[in-house]
Amino acid sequence: MKIALLGVGQAGGKVADAILDYEAASRTDFVTDAVAINSARADLLGLRRIPAERRVLIGQSRVKGHGCGADNELGVTVAEEDIDEIRGAVDDLPVHEVDAFLVVAGLGGGTGSGASPVIARELSRLYTEPVYGLGVLPGSDEGGIYTLNAARSFQTFVREVDNLLVFDNDAWRRSGESLQGGYASINEEIARRLGVLLSAGEVSEPPVPESVVDASEIINTLAGGGVTTIGYANSRLDRPPRGLFGRREQDPDETDVVNRITATVRRATLGNLTLPANVKSTERALVVVSGPPKYLSRKGVEGSRRWLEEETGTMEVRGGDYPVPDSDYVSALVVLSGVTDVPRIKELQQIGAETQRNLAERAAQRPEALRDLVWDGDGEIDPLF
Ligand code: GDP
Repeated sequence: MKIALLGVGQAGGKVADAILDYEAASRTDFVTDAVAINSARADLLGLRRIPAERRVLIGQSRVKGHGCGADNELGVTVAEEDIDEIRGAVDDLPVHEVDAFLVVAGLGGGTGSGASPVIARELSRLYTEPVYGLGVLPGSDEGGIYTLNAARSFQTFVREVDNLLVFDNDAWRRSGESLQGGYASINEEIARRLGVLLSAGEVSEPPVPESVVDASEIINTLAGGGVTTIGYANSRLDRPPRGLFGRREQDPDETDVVNRITATVRRATLGNLTLPANVKSTERALVVVSGPPKYLSRKGVEGSRRWLEEETGTMEVRGGDYPVPDSDYVSALVVLSGVTDVPRIKELQQIGAETQRNLAERAAQRPEALRDLVWDGDGEIDPLF
């Protein structure tokens, strides 16, 4: 599936860069073009992969290239005011070659949080291709404002996209590692998952998949909107090292191949989801099994699909394989689309609502508190004028 990638705000740009890193390292081709959009000049300059002419600075007249801080209402305003520039950058993309748009942003900050739903709305208005969002939720230690921002942006973003893929930083923080330090590996993880999904159907040279996961399979899985979470797991193979004449290895036992696939799909589904969710609340699912052709089997993929049907309770489970001859792993990617039972979102909304109440209370008390501070109480001190 070919996408036009739009990274909005700092996290959006960095994740877009990581997706382009993945594409280069895996020698795949699924990003037709990429654009970065930000109100902070320094963040745009810090990008590595997105070409300079594809970086759009918005809100210059208002924030002078300094960003929106954590003010996502300002993020909305600068995107709306500079929508012509954003549209101009997208007009330069070869849109006729893309199957979908992907708008990526961290939802806890200012620019990405506010601007990404505005950009998604504009893309949907102008183009017939589906517009997907990838929203990153803040860690719970980032504080109430970030959580409130994310809760507000989440609501708006879901409404403006054809499907919102969600990645929860909180669920991904490695124990003992600060979130900041872990961003690079988190971004790699996001890129790997999207990369496997989007490149699976773009194999142009042999060995071709037995059952291809093409763009329409992905679009159908994401149809119906809502929220999507993605699971991934891999299983290391005990293969002989690569030699001058390739690998000399025996054909693996078929039962082992099938069992390995089903076990990996189970781990992908029940283990590390990008957004922890009750899998029973899934509306549609898709599974992609990748690895060396000898370790892929139609029976394994079919068995996994049936298991996913039972586990999720949905009849709409698509599946396919993705041969990667040189790989030392069999891996499984599971897309759970339209999940509705997601405790983390409820928690985010609850903390967001509390923060909103606290902010309103403090704002109401402020004028009186300031008057008390400035007034000396007895009227002994005269102001100058
Ligand atoms: P913006 O530039 O105003 O859109 O704000 P940022 O993108 O800097 O931050 C928004 C949120 O994104 C933060 O609260 C973090 O949760 C998250 N974030 C920032 N940088 C990264 C990153 O590189 N990777 C990931 N996964 N999350 C990030």
